[in-house]
Amino acid sequence: MKVGDVKVERDVPLSRLTTLGTGGPARAFARPESAAEVEELLRWAAGHGLPVVTVGLGSNLLVADEGVDALVLRLAGELAAVEVDGEVLRAGGGAANAVCLHRARTAGLGGFEFACAIPGTIGGGVWMNAGAYGGDFSQVLERALVATADGTGWLTPAELGLSYRRSNLRHGQVVLRAELRLRPRPSEEIKAAVRELNARRKAAQPTNRRTFGSVFKNPEHELSAGRMLEACGLKGYRIGGAQISPKHANFIENAGGATTADALALMVEARRRAFEQFGVELRHEVELLGPLELPPL
Ligand SMILES: Cc1cc2nc3c(=O)[nH]c(=O)nc-3n(C[C@H](O)[C@H](O)[C@H](O)COP(=O)(O)OP(=O)(O)OC[C@H]3O[C@@H](n4cnc5c(N)ncnc54)[C@H](O)[C@@H]3O)c2cc1C
Repeated sequence: MKVGDVKVERDVPLSRLTTLGTGGPARAFARPESAAEVEELLRWAAGHGLPVVTVGLGSNLLVADEGVDALVLRLAGELAAVEVDGEVLRAGGGAANAVCLHRARTAGLGGFEFACAIPGTIGGGVWMNAGAYGGDFSQVLERALVATADGTGWLTPAELGLSYRRSNLRHGQVVLRAELRLRPRPSEEIKAAVRELNARRKAAQPTNRRTFGSVFKNPEHELSAGRMLEACGLKGYRIGGAQISPKHANFIENAGGATTADALALMVEARRRAFEQFGVELRHEVELLGPLELPPL
């Protein structure tokens, strides 16, 4: 069926849209290419009492095997475009970080290098204030254009409530665009910084496996989540087709034929062991979509 000019498909498997490669179908799915199309879809969904969820590159998502009873949007067209204007990089919410970083480097603008190994989009980055190696979105984001069924407006980082791996955005709020304020930096320097960050990443984390990045946020503890789970003896621990990375214990890999239920069972076990051994209640960094829950400890 169509809403305005946009095709709305039924039962699109979300496993195709997540980096872990698991997850059931979206009840409805569309790829809007403009703010007007998103606004129309939001009004249509509100009229049908259907929640709206926007996905980026699915690199921080664990989607229920049963699927998601929602209209799932993936931004395309002008909502995935990138342009540089002076020291400001304007990007659609669906633009890949890698494309933004490439454009910034070509324009001799630094400040976004931290995102070199974050395989997501601008919208996903704003949603969870993605960051690495001391940098995060809150340090470069000037403002984001956010659409809801009630209207569209620009929000500042303070209004978005950006803090460690979180914002106060909720499903139904769509990051259409963002403006990042960068600073002049020679492109050769940017290239060298990115090379160094990628080498550090490769040495410590699984880089050629199907994962969704860090499973848990780092707790307020002398040990990181990864070190804690390693101390619990969980490296390489497997349930069904999912396993805790033998390289870094805060990653879950799809080792072949994994389901979301397998990955969730690993998370439950990891939380139980960290609580037993360290008295720490680990909180998940990955976004859970659909009827998924971690039982209380
Ligand atoms: C190998 C690997 C390494 C990683 N390393 C890091 C790292 O160092 N640091 C880090 O912070 N993360 C890391 N991640 C996790 C992930 O890449 C980031 O969280 C990224 O920002 C998610 O972006 P995405 O576009 O893939 O979002 P998705 O995973 O598709 O979605 C994540 C959340 O954002 C919401 N969302 C996405 N787009 C929009 C939008 N336009 N409007 C409103 N909501 C939206 C979704 O609804 C969902 O709740 C890593 C992941 C992998 C696989």
